[in-house]
Amino acid sequence: MTADHVTDVMDGIVRFTFALPLGIDHVHCYALRGQDGAWTVVDTGLGVDDARERWQLALRRLDAPVERIVVTHFHPDHVGAAALLAALTGAPVLQGAIDYVQCVRTWGPERSSERLLAYMREHGLPDGEADTLRSENEALAGLVHYVRDPTPLEPGDRLDGWEVIHLPGHADGHLCLLRDGVLIAGDALLATISPNVGLYPEARPDPLADYLESLERIVGLAPSVAFAGHGETMTDPVARARELIAHHHERLERTREALADGPGTAYDVSLALFPGPLGPVLRRFALAETRAHLEYLVFRDELSRIAGDGLVRYRRP
Ligand SMILES: [Zn+2]
Repeated sequence: MTADHVTDVMDGIVRFTFALPLGIDHVHCYALRGQDGAWTVVDTGLGVDDARERWQLALRRLDAPVERIVVTHFHPDHVGAAALLAALTGAPVLQGAIDYVQCVRTWGPERSSERLLAYMREHGLPDGEADTLRSENEALAGLVHYVRDPTPLEPGDRLDGWEVIHLPGHADGHLCLLRDGVLIAGDALLATISPNVGLYPEARPDPLADYLESLERIVGLAPSVAFAGHGETMTDPVARARELIAHHHERLERTREALADGPGTAYDVSLALFPGPLGPVLRRFALAETRAHLEYLVFRDELSRIAGDGLVRYRRP
């Protein structure tokens, strides 16, 4: 509880910070004051055991009711407490259509950790790590309480003057809000870490290309400030977007270099790109991110993909 903070970050924008028991230690959710005084809450945190109590305390800091809840994307630290917060406030949850489909597939009753594991194994994840991944994934699913059949939110919609913007890459259906140069960025732009851009089964095939386009879009929109799902507020979002574009081009170069001595799986390449011991969840992110870089190069004929012995490998032409 002690790590939870409420901060007035701008006139009419309140930031709630909740501690997280994940690789990343906190998440920010925001409340935006609307024209009639009521609040729109953006993102909900992880549905941990005491999420309801934490929100109850946090909501005391708002001087008017919550009229709607917007989910930027379906990752557990953003959508996890949506149902709890909806029950607490009586407010509807708004979520993008693409995002909701992936949310149900990932966390719903029909979810299959086996599909993700088969995919990870095919790309070289050793069996031992795959087993840990399965149990961690199931434990995480228990902390996600999304809302069934949310109110659909579409790019271009307006909420109290905020424009809904689709900035895919970190998640296919990632939505942000923009008004008067203020970007509520979710995880589309983060100050000190590079948002994970991973390739997963049944998702858009070239998420890194999507993300690079989203970053160019941010440069074009030129917001003056960006409030993100994690870390510091960005007072020069355009510079940060440019930095991330350069970062991914440098990572692409290292991806090519990692295959200089012969073909390798995405797992092999991930060990070169993300050296050092990583827990199973972080290794999964590393593997999915490496695949996004590898497939980006395959789409541009700079690498080819070969299958055999139940493994997918990549090689330089
Ligand atoms: Zn996040």
